[in-house]
Amino acid sequence: MTTVAADTSALSANAAETPSVGMIGWRGMVGSVLVDRMLAEGDFAHINPVFFSTSNAGGAAPTFDGVEAEETTLQDAYDVDTLAKLPIIVTTQGGDYTKEVYPKLRSTGWNGLWIDASSALRMEDSSIIVLDPINREVIDAGLDAGVKQFVGGNCTVSCMLMGMGGLFKQDLVEWGTAMTYQAASGGGAKHMRELLNQFGALHGGSAQELADPASAILEIDRNVLAAQRGDLDVSQFGVPLAGSLIPWIDDDLGNGMSKEEWKGGAETNKILGRGSSIAPGVTRRGDAIPFESLCVRVGALRSHSQALTLKLREDIPVDEIEQIIAEGTDWANVVPNEKSATMEQLTPVAATGELSIPVGRIRKLEMGPEYISAFTVGDQLLWGAAEPLRRMLAIAVGRL
Ligand code: NAP
Repeated sequence: MTTVAADTSALSANAAETPSVGMIGWRGMVGSVLVDRMLAEGDFAHINPVFFSTSNAGGAAPTFDGVEAEETTLQDAYDVDTLAKLPIIVTTQGGDYTKEVYPKLRSTGWNGLWIDASSALRMEDSSIIVLDPINREVIDAGLDAGVKQFVGGNCTVSCMLMGMGGLFKQDLVEWGTAMTYQAASGGGAKHMRELLNQFGALHGGSAQELADPASAILEIDRNVLAAQRGDLDVSQFGVPLAGSLIPWIDDDLGNGMSKEEWKGGAETNKILGRGSSIAPGVTRRGDAIPFESLCVRVGALRSHSQALTLKLREDIPVDEIEQIIAEGTDWANVVPNEKSATMEQLTPVAATGELSIPVGRIRKLEMGPEYISAFTVGDQLLWGAAEPLRRMLAIAVGRL
């Protein structure tokens, strides 16, 4: 398997043995989860981390138990000369940062590996979307062919594939739809705070009536609606989310589709190596699978859910479908399609903080024996963001 030779120049005295890896965005939401996972897996023992900041260059670099960074100050994340000394850069800083810095960095002649959580480069032909339990062959073929851009996928897509991957890997899906129920955390830390503040304000406005079991529910309902239509802080989401939902996520593409919905089909196929958008050196693995979405923001705090309808290419008994799903990745976890197991195991509360991806509500539909439903939930900060990047870094340094 291809590994990345460490750059022996520059920021690391021991770079010959241990590659220096630029860490940008480490204090953000995705970055913090990434660092936690790297600490849990002992990944820092195999790299020399160099921490950057867009806002506090020259400040103290973070210290983590058992991690020895040779640079004890934060480097300037906009200093391309410093970045260009590193063989590998991992960024969870965001798309604006990537758009600003990445072209400048490449124009210096830098030919290191860029591992990125943002969508800025995701659909470029020169990028591979990383989700190695699903597309390890695509990643390896890309590394062998000299691909240098490895980008984490959309959180909803990655979580869906981690759950349903077995059916896609065996090419059993003719087409699919996802009706999503996406959490506030997909927007970032400020969005989570806004949702919680909205819940607090709605409760506060009716606290007295709620404390009195005899008070009229319609009065409470009127108070809540008045607050929702009144002065709730909606600066992040634009409209109230607490006690409501928003059936539009990301930009309006002008054709009736949101960008989030477009990503569902485009990224699913790119990850699978299907359709037209395949990185150089990667063998195309078949025609694109039609995959449609309707994406909805709901008042869950963290972890995205989605209700799937799939048309399979053949009539397969439900127990075999469950087995294919369970064996598809080491993290897919089939939940029996019955009430108590569903309520206990198939919710955002159950999935948050867990790497396992529960998949339940699997049954045949009235439309015919090839049609099935399924419901899946995933922590979008783990498989939806940090974990594929962590594993790509481990692949790049020859540890996975
Ligand atoms: P975020 O929490 O807003 O962090 C991004 C940067 O904001 C940090 O690296 C930090 O940069 C700066 N920052 C400013 N004030 C901060 C504060 N009080 N606490 C922490 N950081 C602060 O963004 P994110 O949600 O991690 O998203 C990063 C990228 O990952 C985006 O491109 C996003 O689209 C993508 N992504 C997100 C998710 C998700 O579920 N949220 C999922 C998949 C992909 P400095 O340290 O340089 O100031």
